[in-house]
Amino acid sequence: MMLTVLCSSFTFRTSARAGSTFIKAQGQTTSTQKNTLTRSLSSLSAATMPEQETCVSHPDFETVKTYMVKEYGCTGTLYKHKATSCEVLSLRSADTNKVFGITFTTPNPASTGVAHILEHSVLCGSRKYTTKEPFVELMRGSVNTFLNAFTYPDRTCYPVASQNTKDFKNLVNVYLDAVLFPRCVKDPNVHAQEGWHLEHENGELTYKGVVYNEMKGVYSSPDSLSSRESQRSLFPDNVYGTDSGGDPLDIPNLSFDNFRQFWEEKYNPGNAKVFFYGDDDESERLDLLTSYLNDYAAEYGAKPNTAKVEWQPKKFEEPVEVRSTFPVGETGGKDMVTVNWLLNDEPMSSVEGLKLNVLDHLLMGNTKSVLRKSLSDSGLGEDITGGGLSDELLQATFSVGMKGVGAPEDGSEENINKVLKTITTTLEEISARGFDEEDVKASMNAIEFQLREFNTGSFPKGLSLMLGSISGWIYGNDPVENLEFEVALSQLKAQLSERGGEVWKDAIKEYLINNTHKSIVIMKPDPELEKKVVEEEKSRLEQIKAGMTEDDIKEIERKMNELKQLQAKEDTAEDIATIPTLNKEDLETKVEEYPIEVIPDFDGSGVTVVENIMPSTSGVIYTNFGIDVSDVDLEDMPLLPLFCRILMETGAGQYDDVQLTRRINTYTGGVSASFLSTAVKEEGVSSDVVSDGSKMVSKIFIKGKATAENAGEMFDIMRLVLTESNLDSQDRIVEMLKEAKSRSEASVKGSGHSLVNTRIKARLSTGGALEEMIGGFTYLETLKGLLDMAENDFPKLKARLESMKSKILAKSKCRDGMVLNVVAEDRVREEADGAIKAFLNELPGDSSPTEKFQNFYTTDHPWAVEAKKKICDLKNEAFVVPTQVNYVGSGGRLYDEGESMPGAANVVARYLRTGYLWDTVRVIGGAYGGFCTLGASSGLFTFLSYRDPNLAITLDAYDGAAAALLEQAENLTAEQLQTAVIGAVGDLDPALSPDQKGSTQFRRWLSGENAEDRQKQRDAILSTSKEDFIAFAKKLQGLKDLSTAVVTSAGMAEEAIKSGKEMDVIEVL
Ligand SMILES: [Zn+2]
Repeated sequence: MMLTVLCSSFTFRTSARAGSTFIKAQGQTTSTQKNTLTRSLSSLSAATMPEQETCVSHPDFETVKTYMVKEYGCTGTLYKHKATSCEVLSLRSADTNKVFGITFTTPNPASTGVAHILEHSVLCGSRKYTTKEPFVELMRGSVNTFLNAFTYPDRTCYPVASQNTKDFKNLVNVYLDAVLFPRCVKDPNVHAQEGWHLEHENGELTYKGVVYNEMKGVYSSPDSLSSRESQRSLFPDNVYGTDSGGDPLDIPNLSFDNFRQFWEEKYNPGNAKVFFYGDDDESERLDLLTSYLNDYAAEYGAKPNTAKVEWQPKKFEEPVEVRSTFPVGETGGKDMVTVNWLLNDEPMSSVEGLKLNVLDHLLMGNTKSVLRKSLSDSGLGEDITGGGLSDELLQATFSVGMKGVGAPEDGSEENINKVLKTITTTLEEISARGFDEEDVKASMNAIEFQLREFNTGSFPKGLSLMLGSISGWIYGNDPVENLEFEVALSQLKAQLSERGGEVWKDAIKEYLINNTHKSIVIMKPDPELEKKVVEEEKSRLEQIKAGMTEDDIKEIERKMNELKQLQAKEDTAEDIATIPTLNKEDLETKVEEYPIEVIPDFDGSGVTVVENIMPSTSGVIYTNFGIDVSDVDLEDMPLLPLFCRILMETGAGQYDDVQLTRRINTYTGGVSASFLSTAVKEEGVSSDVVSDGSKMVSKIFIKGKATAENAGEMFDIMRLVLTESNLDSQDRIVEMLKEAKSRSEASVKGSGHSLVNTRIKARLSTGGALEEMIGGFTYLETLKGLLDMAENDFPKLKARLESMKSKILAKSKCRDGMVLNVVAEDRVREEADGAIKAFLNELPGDSSPTEKFQNFYTTDHPWAVEAKKKICDLKNEAFVVPTQVNYVGSGGRLYDEGESMPGAANVVARYLRTGYLWDTVRVIGGAYGGFCTLGASSGLFTFLSYRDPNLAITLDAYDGAAAALLEQAENLTAEQLQTAVIGAVGDLDPALSPDQKGSTQFRRWLSGENAEDRQKQRDAILSTSKEDFIAFAKKLQGLKDLSTAVVTSAGMAEEAIKSGKEMDVIEVL
């Protein structure tokens, strides 16, 4: 789910793969290689060089250096602003998705969260842009492709991106004014709102504040707590030992004066790195920037760059052991253990950095990598933790461990010790015997494919480049050094050809085995912790109150009321007019369609091929092969995600699991399998008509990418996993189910809003009921049952899997439900033609199927017929877990089945989300997020909150939404209407890479919609009127079949019930 949030506070390590100084694509899984490495991959290049241009010279800037960044098709210049010493890297490329960012070095002296709170606060109004939250105005009415801010342990980054030049300049103006001339250093109310403040109500003091509450949410998560302990343990002496996000216990120690002083010291241009990228005019970039920098110099003078990150020396002679606890419910909860190493205490060369990345891939890169595999095979825990290498900061670290480690009856730590032993033994074994040469080839190619393809998905390419550049630049390195991988790559290859496997043996010894600057972090579940934290906060506040006079308390109440009045005050028309916006005329009116050709019965194979021929795909062919699974019984549907993992991870044909993964990495840019079930448009019915979700398609998709010459290998692998995957592997299947269960449980605390949303929809529609079965609380229960079956009655589970497979691959029918999507440039498509034909003709099933699937666009899907009986009871439910924050959902039916839903509804729902809900649930209520969703074809509407300190209050805010919206609608100005329309159009036009354009057009085709439908929808959005707003608000007042679902703690649920909210309480974890 998309959740617009102000920041993503950078955590030291996450359970996801950590970032890298070498530019990696976002969310990449596996990649490629072949023996003929150079030949195979040299045809793969991210970009062609633009014609060489000379950089501009500008009187206010000194030109320091110029660059040709061949790797990414850019030229660039490093400038230094004469008056302020601000450094600027300006990259010129043909990319229309322009990026700007300003980054300050902001090491945190303590865990008060000062940098994080400042990151939120500077976006709350500035010298020129005087609304309460210009950031929110931009969110409401800009066509940006990226708008956010990040706090790292040592820096704060403000990036924006847009494909529209005028919009881009607007964003840059607002961000520069925000960081250099913010209101928050003059008005203490911002620090109070975003950071923390005291409130006094009903005779009690409480802490409130957006970051305060956001961090309480973080501190409820066992994974975050564990990574925070790991960070603290490795860095006892430097700033990385503090929590840049802020520890809820320390946040109230941050005074307004400290906060302002931090801004004065750190937010000066001499301490900033500015980045530009894209096809916009360079002299205009510099003109715009210098106007702000000169103003700053005139007001504050030039300041030296004083912010510096000190090195943490590697000084432990013995590993340190740290023990801590995390909150759990009354029962259950297992141990977590992580081993962490600090890898360097002096600068590392590029080739050394790349070597560590390859080593990390060899040890932890995928489920079959040796260290990850030895841990999951051990069966000692439920999932791997630690995330391996993290190298975005001055000093790199490596972490690995397990969570869900069960303690034996006697409470001993035998299993924790076994996890530690497994890690040590595995590393020692590899350092003695070395890696398999084939594995090294596979990992080398995996990394090289990623570097060369540079596929950042929907993440702006320029932003990836900026983040890569900054992670060396702020420490005094050349800003482009991190982007240039060719030299490091050839040096590493030279080392490997000279010294072979010794390179890895030495690296493991040096960085891990013989490295004593290491920590072991053991986290134990504590059922009392949540209560303790609440009680400690209470007694702390009681103590504070005891030391106060009547007058002190009156002063707190006065400030509280002042803040509340300010928050409730609407921005004036004059204030809103300060925010630069586009006009409707600046918007693209036509929907962008991408090339598509649909060829049924391709080459007599009986299979439909959908081709998207793109101008350039950098030498790569992207394929997506769909197999219909609608003949699988509905009760087996929740097994389909497991079935997909089995295809990829248990081995197939002559290859065992490790060999299969190696083959994928060696020849392709990745092969993966996933299950998709989605509602489609009914044939002959207008696309704006609300449906019950019974017309739907359900397929397994096997996705792959490779260079043209390896297309044959890729297709072989795809066919192999589909037809010859191994369903026998009980151990692996148990592991996978343990992981799925553990992740699904973690999602209750981490993404409770998504689960409650699903639950509400499951009470209202067939589509919702199906979603609940595969992604809701019901699925969590199903997983527990499946795990039990896998452990105790495997033959039964295996029989179910086999029966599914035989239905999916039924000889007389299966090819009728198969579809192959190919996205490639012309030359690559041509080269791969033979491979495509061979693949299709060798597939299982008859090329002239005697049986056909039903028409899913005219007839109800068999699952939908069954799922109608599984619609959940309409009632209010509270799902109780140990947590300090809530996820509050409420929703119902806004448009009836068969009714037509106007396109304008999307504009108004967005307006409500970024307006009333943002203001009441986030700004006033103190939740991290408050928003709503409107089902495109279901007509269902839900209110949701994210990391919310309130429950009953939020439900009341939802109850007041329709009336508030109606009032706003009746008073809607032409400017507000225009802003709302611009924002909604911006949502329709993300920046897409060529492969994404292809897959977008494929998805459109699959959904049964046509170009006319899409244009009609866009036209409707563009012509939204005030009357549409009023009609929607009135409709919302009559929201039908209303019910609520919340994730909360036992205590909060009890309180809400006492205050009159009715709900059934269900214990989840
Ligand atoms: Zn934040």
